[in-house]
Amino acid sequence: MESTLACALERAASGEALADADAIALADAHGADLGALIRSAAAQRDFRWGRRLTFSPKVFLPVTNLCRNRCDYCSFRRSPGDAGEWTMTPDEVAAALDGARDAGCLEALLCLGDKPEVAFSAYRETLAGLGQATTVDYLVEVARMAIDRGILPHTNAGLLTSDEMAHLKEVNASLGLMLESASARLCEPGMPHHRAPDKRPEKRLAMIAEAGRLRIPFTTGILVGIGETPRERVEALLAIRAIHREHHHVQEVIVQNFRARPEVVMADAPEPGEIDLVRTIALARLVLDSPVSVQAPPNLSPGATAALIGAGINDFGGISPVTPDYINPSHPWPHLGALREAVRAEGYDLGPRLCIYDRFTDVEGFVDPRLGGAVRAASARSTWRALEARENA
Ligand code: SF4
Repeated sequence: MESTLACALERAASGEALADADAIALADAHGADLGALIRSAAAQRDFRWGRRLTFSPKVFLPVTNLCRNRCDYCSFRRSPGDAGEWTMTPDEVAAALDGARDAGCLEALLCLGDKPEVAFSAYRETLAGLGQATTVDYLVEVARMAIDRGILPHTNAGLLTSDEMAHLKEVNASLGLMLESASARLCEPGMPHHRAPDKRPEKRLAMIAEAGRLRIPFTTGILVGIGETPRERVEALLAIRAIHREHHHVQEVIVQNFRARPEVVMADAPEPGEIDLVRTIALARLVLDSPVSVQAPPNLSPGATAALIGAGINDFGGISPVTPDYINPSHPWPHLGALREAVRAEGYDLGPRLCIYDRFTDVEGFVDPRLGGAVRAASARSTWRALEARENA
């Protein structure tokens, strides 16, 4: 075991992609080994991504918080009749988008519960009242409202069929689905996904692969600290890598740490420590192919920005000047100026990016031709914002 660990660390330091066995050998690295792992990941990040870290200036549109699943860590979902149940009206969407345009947002994140129309007749009536046959039809309308304001949509609507993704691709620069975990064990009784039929890993992996066949720039990620083992974290990263190597469409992988909240089933579950998080970030950087962005949300680790950077992230994900993080409402996004200062203190620069990474914008088939003009216009605005930020530094 020790020699396997030593060999794996040696290969990590050389910049070679980690083989599956190497990655698993490093799954629980600690002490000096963890230090070496982190240094290799940071070097790999610097080699491919340079000294510029990114974020996506976004507006968060929680189109509906109705969801048929019940994940034990979730405080977002509601059933019809619950306090806080919310399906956004077109007027509410328009108001949020107007504010986002005025604040310079480049991304509209459409995020919602899974398959609400399958579970709830009351929601089907809501959709009918909005003149929509399906949730996807409504998402297309919301996305068009964003595009009309020069903001690029990115939708995360849970499990989708191939036809639904193809339809959404017409009006989305990218789509997303967190894998969360590749472990079916987490779906067993007493585990966090037991009451969440859409969290079966084989279903999520199948959708991520189908997005690749449809040539959709795709965002996915894993959760850290929901009951998975260190080895299972690595297995999830390896599963994402395998699909990406077949289709070359995974643009970013989010490493998101579980935060306990009083209203969830896992209210008393221990949160993952910083060591677990930075080890997983470092492994993500060394397992995933170098063009795949590695992201960690700064609001879930306040005060740990230096540790996130040191472990190899190149991106902080979406940060909104106009809306809260509806998934993690008790964890506000950092003030951009403060984040920029923290990034600079580590010797890096912070700049905006689009919800579609640059390397996909000119590759045949990854952007629907009807969206090309909107992507080019948003790209120009992003470049302008980056120049402005540098001049004001
Ligand atoms: S995490 Fe997502 S799928 Fe699970 S209950 Fe919450 S909204 Fe639904």
